[in-house]
Amino acid sequence: MDMQKPVRVRFAPSPTGFIHVGNVRTALFNWLWAGRLGGTFMLRIEDTDAERSEARYEEQLMEDLRWLGLDWNEGVGRGGDCGPYRQSDRYGIYREYARRLLDEDKAYRCFCSAEELDAVRQEQAAKKETPLYSGKCRHLPQGEVDEKLRAGAPFTLRLRVRPGTVGFDDLVFGRVEIATSMVSDPVLLRSDGSPTYNFCCVIDDALMRITHVIRGDGHLPNTHRQVLAYEALGFAPPRFAHLSTILGPDGQKLSKRHGATSIEEFRRRGYLPEALVNYLALLGWSPATDGEEIFSADEIKAQFDLGRVVKSPAVFDPAKLDWMNRTYINKTPGEVLAKTARPYFEEAGLVADADADPDPAATDAWLGRVIDLVKTHVDHLDQLPAASGVVYGFADAAGGETAVPPEAPLALEDAARAALAPPEARAVAEEFARLAYGRERLDSESYREMLGGVKAATKQKGRNLYHPIRAALTGRDSGPDLERLIAVYEDGARLGLPRKVASCKERLRAFLAML
Ligand code: GLU
Repeated sequence: MDMQKPVRVRFAPSPTGFIHVGNVRTALFNWLWAGRLGGTFMLRIEDTDAERSEARYEEQLMEDLRWLGLDWNEGVGRGGDCGPYRQSDRYGIYREYARRLLDEDKAYRCFCSAEELDAVRQEQAAKKETPLYSGKCRHLPQGEVDEKLRAGAPFTLRLRVRPGTVGFDDLVFGRVEIATSMVSDPVLLRSDGSPTYNFCCVIDDALMRITHVIRGDGHLPNTHRQVLAYEALGFAPPRFAHLSTILGPDGQKLSKRHGATSIEEFRRRGYLPEALVNYLALLGWSPATDGEEIFSADEIKAQFDLGRVVKSPAVFDPAKLDWMNRTYINKTPGEVLAKTARPYFEEAGLVADADADPDPAATDAWLGRVIDLVKTHVDHLDQLPAASGVVYGFADAAGGETAVPPEAPLALEDAARAALAPPEARAVAEEFARLAYGRERLDSESYREMLGGVKAATKQKGRNLYHPIRAALTGRDSGPDLERLIAVYEDGARLGLPRKVASCKERLRAFLAML
């Protein structure tokens, strides 16, 4: 590699659908490579498929990239000196180069109809031959060409593939070389004059001074055609790095069948962008040091090396991603998570919509404390409301369920009832309640004082002291730290939320009355 040349890479999605795990891994590896080498990461929109390209997909993919933190420093939405960066805005450029290739006889007009080409393909398939263009129009006499043009016969423009071999040194796959006899003369312009991906891509990568093309290995066959196009155009090809296909846990190509695959969906379900970035970086790449798997984007950037990308297919394991997301959720403070998680609580009717909330900041702060109490139970943030039953007084959701049960009176779980059955336990709970009823305000500090009082009065300590108090306050026999929970109950009750949070005294009265 020419180390003098500043590194310039691009992510070049086609806006024909939501971007999925595979596209984002490609974007990420480009972003990491540019970041590692202090280069430029460009966003180019490849919308030559006018029928399937839609502006909303373009907007969505930019939003996805921004959300993931994969900021680009040149391209669509950013500008730069190699624009325009949307291929549909560059048709004049492609036509000019097509004209040049035609004039130099490096490209030729092909008048074969789609039916004709199809018939040949079928014949080849029947004989189990590689489908290849017959070369019928390669050497049409000029007179015949002129005649067809006069008659208005439609034609495509094809690149004249030279004899010999074509190859490149892929940074992941190593030397890749094939005989050009195995390559059909690529179509550069379709019969409606629109340019094809292989043509636009080469011209753009050359004019945009791209140094490394990092993309999915599904493009390997295109790369041969593109290298031939570079030659014909007189451009030096960039370096190539093809990334292996991503498979599902069953070894099949990753698809919808394997669950969420679009970034939009991961975002909707409350995956954290830093967890996704961390997980996707490890799909095909690994750091030189073994063991550690949790890295920030900057840490990955500092050690990312295309030379350590493997060509064997990477397996996308949703369970591992969940583990990673959980890890990130647990290391992120609740008050930070509350900002992203609040809409899930709003949707479940547990807190007011922010714009209808008289004190949204107070709600956020309280929600952050709720989240800190229950977050160890979730894989993604959309599971948080259903995991907050200990605060709101509903039963825990089973197995990742996100629905919250309808509002109902407080219920004493059987295990809590059993915990309060022995007379000594009940005495502890009743003494605690008596002290609580006598206080104006309950908080963590008064809780500690009351504990001391109950201990002195009942002579109970340790589990015999805490367990009955927990049962009488929460209606459960296990759960998060009581001291913090008590303050969350009290503040939640004061906030007057759309879904009622019972105060400590209300809880004690209700539960003790059920014994
Ligand atoms: N538009 C192509 C795709 O989305 C880009 C391939 C490339 O990076 O050259 O697959």
